[in-house]
Amino acid sequence: MKRFSLEGVELEIRDSGVHGTGAFARGRIRAGAPVVHVTGRVVLAPVDAVMPDTFWALQVAPGVWLEADPESHDPDNYMNHSCEPNVGFVRGTLTFYALRDIEPGEELLWDYSTAMNEPGWAAPCRCGAATCRGLLQGFRDLDPAVQDRLRSIALDYLRG
Ligand SMILES: [Zn+2]
Repeated sequence: MKRFSLEGVELEIRDSGVHGTGAFARGRIRAGAPVVHVTGRVVLAPVDAVMPDTFWALQVAPGVWLEADPESHDPDNYMNHSCEPNVGFVRGTLTFYALRDIEPGEELLWDYSTAMNEPGWAAPCRCGAATCRGLLQGFRDLDPAVQDRLRSIALDYLRG
């Protein structure tokens, strides 16, 4: 188990039993608190490139990715997706903020479509949320109504 602390927010990385490894709150996190800064090695690719399935990275701008360092065990490497997330890019920057109060032991979950914009990218979603879209997609491929709902927790480059 790995433990992290950012500005008073205590996290741990452990097996979630549902999604595999996940990041969990150790203490209560107040709505609006910064929770995790996204880190990684910058990788540049052509705009609208389709990346291989084995590429473990977060898209942060057109043609710009942050690749996870498998040795680093940074919490953002382990944060799973939910269609009803409890953290998001509230300020459009590479910091996750709590979208509501998060209780001790709760898994930190964000919506992958608020960063990913790779054309044609799709993966089945079984997050279990009542509002589950059933399919993970890049922001560009979402229904306009879903885009509107997600815009306020998406990275700056997707806000238009
Ligand atoms: Zn879902």
